[in-house]
Amino acid sequence: MTTLAATTIDELKRHIGGQVILPHDSAYEAARRIWNAMIDKHPALIVRCASTSDVLRSVNFARDNGLPLAVRGGGHNIAGNAMCDDGLVIDLSQMKTAKVDPGSRRVTIEGGATLADLDAATQAHGLATPVGINSTTGVAGLTLGGGFGWLSRKYGMTIDNLESAEVVTAAGEVVHASATEHPDLFWAIWGGSGNFGVVTHFEYRLHDVGPEIMSGLIVYPLSEAKQVLQHYREFMAKAPDELSVWAVLRKAPPLPFLPEEVHGKEMIALAVFYAGDPNQAEPLIAPLHKFGTTLGAHIGVQPYIAWQQAFDPLLAPGARNYWKSHNFSMLNDKLFDAVIEYIEKLPSSQCEIFFGAIGGATSRPTPDSAAYAHRDAKFVMNVHGRWDDPADDERCIQWARDFFNTSAPFASGGVYVNFLTADEGDRVRDAYGPNYDRLAKVKRKYDPTNLFRINQNIRPA
Ligand SMILES: Cc1cc2nc3c(=O)[nH]c(=O)nc-3n(C[C@H](O)[C@H](O)[C@H](O)COP(=O)(O)OP(=O)(O)OC[C@H]3O[C@@H](n4cnc5c(N)ncnc54)[C@H](O)[C@@H]3O)c2cc1C
Repeated sequence: MTTLAATTIDELKRHIGGQVILPHDSAYEAARRIWNAMIDKHPALIVRCASTSDVLRSVNFARDNGLPLAVRGGGHNIAGNAMCDDGLVIDLSQMKTAKVDPGSRRVTIEGGATLADLDAATQAHGLATPVGINSTTGVAGLTLGGGFGWLSRKYGMTIDNLESAEVVTAAGEVVHASATEHPDLFWAIWGGSGNFGVVTHFEYRLHDVGPEIMSGLIVYPLSEAKQVLQHYREFMAKAPDELSVWAVLRKAPPLPFLPEEVHGKEMIALAVFYAGDPNQAEPLIAPLHKFGTTLGAHIGVQPYIAWQQAFDPLLAPGARNYWKSHNFSMLNDKLFDAVIEYIEKLPSSQCEIFFGAIGGATSRPTPDSAAYAHRDAKFVMNVHGRWDDPADDERCIQWARDFFNTSAPFASGGVYVNFLTADEGDRVRDAYGPNYDRLAKVKRKYDPTNLFRINQNIRPA
């Protein structure tokens, strides 16, 4: 356990505008908890920063005292990299201010904001930028890994919409990174995760979105899953960029539009989103209702913000989670057979397998245009192992690992860095792909001692 002299901590406290939380403080237990309940780390101190200068002081403090350093944005990362044992956590959760300039269609937002904060600020002007599908996720971690969601086929990955960032580096400098200022650093934070410094502000480009959009769910029985997935594959190959459809296989939650006898039964749901004029969506969506015999469907016009929060109840914090993920450039029939086999033996009612369709605008940049290299990925598959009782740990983790191994022969070999679990150090190179060596050189320049190492780590070249 790290011991820091009380005077050293008092000195830090005097200079921090936010809050320094220590293990004996009443706020400590809640402050060390993050989205994934499997993460149980005990930092020596948590600095809840109020400003860039708090972040700067905390970086300097950790470096000068030889402390492990973790950075908490939204605290959603499955691997638990927002926390560390015996070190200092820079907690950005109070830094959420967003400023929208509707004229230039830009938003600047602080590094502790959630997707809900970002969407609320931008939708007040009928604008949005592509982010993920669960509104409590942090903007920072999501962006730094690449970021994708319902708007990505139309407008690209989150990073493709990043204009600039303010970064506190390991040397304790506040740097503005953009295409023209520190372009090497800017390239690296487009997918290089938290390796290069603490991002205190992100500036994004915005697009006209909603505020009303067409979206919803169509549910089919598991017995028809293979034909539904086959139709889905053909449909997405020709779908316009505006249309995003994700396929989710799990036990049906008690959704009001499903008959009661379907609740708790295995099913496949198509989650549908149209990023354009809702009046034009219906004929494009119509074929999705004919993939089989629907158990129920609920598709209509609703606020974009409501759709961005539609899956929050299924993804609330506090459950135990173990994920495995593959990227796919195409979907194979044998993969469908394997998915169905594993859905037939789900180890908990919260476990699921989903295919998120990306492609479209996410696939157009070249793989070396940003640190995020997976421009060939048309689908990102995530095996969500999720349960409540620690007694189920082994069973649920094994299920996720077994399916991951069974599906590996059909995958592209790449993996989304933000879906890596804590025990996947051997896949970090796959996550950065052909850009790893260039990233390692940028790492050497901006963080030669690897101060920022509690992440999917890139070692300095
Ligand atoms: C329920 C759920 C749904 C998800 N859905 C999607 C989705 O639709 N699309 C998608 O792309 N991803 C999705 N993700 C993955 C998500 O992008 C990652 O979990 C991401 O790391 C979350 O960012 P965070 O800030 O909340 O995480 P944190 O745990 O706070 O941080 C994640 C990593 O980023 C670093 N970091 C955080 N903030 C900063 C900062 N300001 N500066 C530098 N480094 C920082 C941390 O040190 C850590 O290494 C989802 C995750 C969950 C749990």
